[in-house]
Amino acid sequence: QTGAEQTSAPGPQQVLERVFGYPAFRGEQQAIIEHVVAGGDALVLMPTGGGKSLCYQIPALVREGVGVVISPLIALMKDQVDALEAVGVRAAFLNSTQTPDERRAVEQALRAGEVDLLYLAPERVTVPATQELLASIRIALFAIDEAHCVSQWGHDFRPDYLALSVLHERWPSIPRIALTATATAATAQEIVQRLDLGQARRFVASFDRPNIQYRIEPKNQPVQQLLQLIRTEHPGDAGIVYCLSRASVEKTAAELQAQGIPALPYHAGLDAAVRADHQSRFLREDGIVMVATIAFGMGIDKPDVRFVAHLDLPKSVEGYYQETGRAGRDGLPSTAWLAYGLQDVVQQRQLIDKSEGDAAHKRRMSQLLDAMLALCETVECRRAQLLAYFGQELPGGRCGNCDTCLNPPESWDGTVPAQKLLSTIVRLDRERRQRYGAGQLIDILLGKRTPRVEQLGHADLATFGIGTELSDVEWRGVVRQLLAQGLLAVHGDGYGTLVLTEASGTVLRGERTVALRREVVRASRSGRSRS
Ligand code: ADP
Ligand code: ZN
Repeated sequence: QTGAEQTSAPGPQQVLERVFGYPAFRGEQQAIIEHVVAGGDALVLMPTGGGKSLCYQIPALVREGVGVVISPLIALMKDQVDALEAVGVRAAFLNSTQTPDERRAVEQALRAGEVDLLYLAPERVTVPATQELLASIRIALFAIDEAHCVSQWGHDFRPDYLALSVLHERWPSIPRIALTATATAATAQEIVQRLDLGQARRFVASFDRPNIQYRIEPKNQPVQQLLQLIRTEHPGDAGIVYCLSRASVEKTAAELQAQGIPALPYHAGLDAAVRADHQSRFLREDGIVMVATIAFGMGIDKPDVRFVAHLDLPKSVEGYYQETGRAGRDGLPSTAWLAYGLQDVVQQRQLIDKSEGDAAHKRRMSQLLDAMLALCETVECRRAQLLAYFGQELPGGRCGNCDTCLNPPESWDGTVPAQKLLSTIVRLDRERRQRYGAGQLIDILLGKRTPRVEQLGHADLATFGIGTELSDVEWRGVVRQLLAQGLLAVHGDGYGTLVLTEASGTVLRGERTVALRREVVRASRSGRSRS
């Protein structure tokens, strides 16, 4: 703290200007940096693109010693270090992709005092050699990036993060800064508890991303819908398209390419060299559309991603928010577009049922999914609902720039169709001890004499043909919305069969009405032009 050397060292503002070339701090950066420079612990909740990196990079340069950054983004460490070295910061990384020789070179540089910032993979922290190394150098601070990875209940758990509490135990006087873009109260609380950050000052930035237009529409012909979005609103723009499986990534990328869109696939099953090549093309070339699983994107800093499209339902609002947050980091208008359908709900429920983990874990996953479904089916402002999920309020309650604000959805009284559907399920169960998925139930309601209907004798059911007021597509929308509202459930048998919930009874007995969102197929597309 004292001594001529310290006082004459450049302060945060000088480092910001001279090293990073920015004239001013953004948002709470300055307050955070000053707090950490002074030796305080900090918990920083800031949306993607908010500028978290400088919050630990600048204190690491201002304070004496090495800033140690724990990051799960091993694939990006080299890029991060290269970027820092390009502006003259002495940075290095240690992870398991390096050869022992490479690691030794880094260790030597560290011991010689030639490193200001060290990126460390979480699995290296507990390795005795690392502990020894850290004990032999002067440490300026510990930064724990993507700190939500410590949460076992969250969407991105990394077991190695649980061991990070050793840092504080071993180096209690070194300031720590934990950063994440996942800001639910529950996650923040878990970070504080597991990393022993009870004394840390909290910095919570607004999670609103006003330049992103959020839109969610029913999925009919997903690739056609996506093509329409790209051609009408984002021709030539860079974008990310998220798919659930590797197979659908490959298929979608091929379909887009066939339509003349410069699309590239990205998933963990691709060769590392191919992945690296696609990633660098996405970053360096204009107008590439990356079709990817969620393996892609964490830590990718491309400012001009103009749209993020989801062709499958994300597992949680946290995941959705992080993925969509990769759009429009430069602050210019961007689109977050999601297409989802009945099959998504069934599939996600099945994934939860089949997942490893105890009942409590499954319940938690279900809750995360329920919140995502509620966002999909809301008739309120999407942005207001997103922010509310993160415990923040949107002034005025509506944004005027999401699909529901631009094109307020009509709701309609779906009580009678719901009763028809639910009573079909009841009859099949009681009279025949049979359970079916949406397809067979809808065929019965529509009175379709399919071979399966004939064979099973379902034409004899009292509810056969009583649902002809709606089309097949409309019925699927009804089923999806009933699932989202918890008035219907997917059975855990792995076949996607539908069963009643406790709440279903209140509908069947006429004790409550069911409000459904009117699906205007392809309506949300025209959102912008109607404003
Ligand atoms: P996060 O980690 O929160 O997603 P980053 O730290 O990657 O965000 O920052 C996002 C972008 O904003 C980067 O391109 C970064 O260089 C830029 N940035 C951060 N702080 C400032 C600032 N004070 N002035 C200008 N640009 C900034
Ligand atoms: Zn809105």
